Amino acid sequence: MRKSTNKWLLCLVLAVVMVFATACGSNNNNNNNNEEPGGEALTTDVLVIGGGGAGLAAATSAAENGADVILIEKAAFLGGNTVIAGGAFNSVNPDSQQKAEMNDALMADLEAILEAKESDFGDFQPTLVELKSQITEYLETGDTDVLFDSVELHMIHTYLGGQRTDLEGNSITGDLELVRVMCGNALDALKWLEGHGIEVRENVSTVLGALWPRTNSVGRGSSYIEVLEPAAKGLGVEIMLETRGIELIVEDGRVVGAKAEKADGTEIIINANSGVVVATGGYGENPEMRAEYNTYWKEMPLEMPSTNSPNITGDGIIMGKDIGANLVGMGFLQLMPSSHPVTGSLFSGVWGSAETQVFVNKDGKRFVNEYAERDVLASAALEQEEGLFFIITDQQIVGERDIEQMLTNGDVVKADTLEELAEELGIDVEAFLAEIEKYNSYVDNQKDPDFNKPNFGSYKVEVAPFYATPRSPSVHHTMGGLQIDTTTRVINVDGEAIPGLYAAGEVTGGIHAGNRLGGNAQADIMVFGRIAGESAALKK
Ligand code: ADP
Repeated sequence: MRKSTNKWLLCLVLAVVMVFATACGSNNNNNNNNEEPGGEALTTDVLVIGGGGAGLAAATSAAENGADVILIEKAAFLGGNTVIAGGAFNSVNPDSQQKAEMNDALMADLEAILEAKESDFGDFQPTLVELKSQITEYLETGDTDVLFDSVELHMIHTYLGGQRTDLEGNSITGDLELVRVMCGNALDALKWLEGHGIEVRENVSTVLGALWPRTNSVGRGSSYIEVLEPAAKGLGVEIMLETRGIELIVEDGRVVGAKAEKADGTEIIINANSGVVVATGGYGENPEMRAEYNTYWKEMPLEMPSTNSPNITGDGIIMGKDIGANLVGMGFLQLMPSSHPVTGSLFSGVWGSAETQVFVNKDGKRFVNEYAERDVLASAALEQEEGLFFIITDQQIVGERDIEQMLTNGDVVKADTLEELAEELGIDVEAFLAEIEKYNSYVDNQKDPDFNKPNFGSYKVEVAPFYATPRSPSVHHTMGGLQIDTTTRVINVDGEAIPGLYAAGEVTGGIHAGNRLGGNAQADIMVFGRIAGESAALKK
């Protein structure tokens, strides 16, 4: 009898404790419904939201660090903007760069850096000082036929490329420590990708707006996904497609998971014991958000095409902001490289390395230094009639590429002579011929008195047949986003790290500041994606 009374008493005490614990939980949580009635609940160590380049790098690296990982992806396929990107990856890479030559234009760049005033470089002053001593040593003792490069030069290019002031007078530069981490770890990330099977081409080039020949090519952006998807799966990462992250769950100030929604509308709770990595990309496909935040371009029409995947709608930025994350650099959007004037497609065209690109407007005239930063190019293009211009190339650039489909679609115009090309484009033949002749003479003289293009290589537009690709500026990359520290912890509006929350890739801000260098996005997403996975797995 006494035994059964004790049992009854024990049950009562347990029930009271459970009710009390639930009540306390609901006071502390921003979100206490971790087990929705009728909904599904899963538990893992690391939850990654978004399955583009940064998300897959984070998931793979978290699993490599011993974590159980679930990756949710809103689309029915992985890849995001990464899979449809050119895949250009900026990194100092001595193996390939020792095959590249210096030229007068690059040498002039180095000389300009030697002349630069430290006081103009803010936090980057020590970087400039170090770079100057590297350049001096190179000029005094190095083989000056071989291309110079260093992590510090990459940092200074990233700083100069990103240092901008918006229409409201707000100035922005990249965060020194984040830029240092990106540039300093890019080669290691490239080697890590090679370890997972990616093939890096032997030669470096200069993707549009990269400012220096340090662009490594892996073919296309799809190459990253083709190696990281099997790598992640091989390490046991559970990938859930058509599952959209909708809300971060916070308990006692710590992010402990997220609420998500499947394509059929079912809600699901995913508890993450170690951390949540947000890798949902930027907001290039969210016209309202673009218009709301833009402070850099005079106009940001809702109908402006974008090169982005339809799923890149700023979800991670919104989810982070909802729980107090700080946003940085949101006013700055990148409108280059240009895209198809109607569809916004990035790839429907032909062109080569930045040195070899020639842009003409509807009057058949050049209008910009084609080697300049992307915002300079976009700004100049927007001044042209209908914002339209043509990238002119010849057979030397097209080479063996199969462009039949582009010609059939009318995405590229081909002609046997430059006269015929101008006629087909409906532009003034005489003006166009004179312009190309003048451009070719600039290549001979390696001097462009019209627009000061500094670097031409030796390419002249002269080998038939000739090609023109019509282009217009379009939203390509959004530079702003969640503020992170060097371990990718998301920072709140009070300047403190939000426990349990990490972010990587285009969803973050502060690295590229006002203008991202062409080729720096892949370095960013792979370097910080890897770090985010490790940080979340190890609860850094
Ligand atoms: P990054 O270059 O930073 O990796 P990407 O654009 O390549 O960015 O990838 C972002 C991925 O995140 C895309 O695949 C996109 O579909 C996915 N995504 C965006 N919003 C969500 C969300 N709310 N839930 C899950 N996945 C999302």
